[in-house]
Amino acid sequence: MPDKITHSKAECSKDTRQTKIPKMPVYSCTCGEAILIIPDIPAMNEAIKAHLTKHRKITSQVLTEDALTQEILKKIAEQHPLL
Ligand SMILES: [Zn+2]
Repeated sequence: MPDKITHSKAECSKDTRQTKIPKMPVYSCTCGEAILIIPDIPAMNEAIKAHLTKHRKITSQVLTEDALTQEILKKIAEQHPLL
């Protein structure tokens, strides 16, 4: 039922607003997409791989896993100079 789904979605976002969620670091790609930087290497790898496909669709440019990983690591280093 579409109505029910819409309703529960609204309820959910309302709850999310009330509960303070710590802001996660995000990598903003050159294609305009944001990739959430999470302290979970396998999950992060999955996000990177998923973005490679997305990135190619958005920009028609091939982005390699290595290049994207390097860019994200650079971003982390900028945000956390002590790491
Ligand atoms: Zn991208």
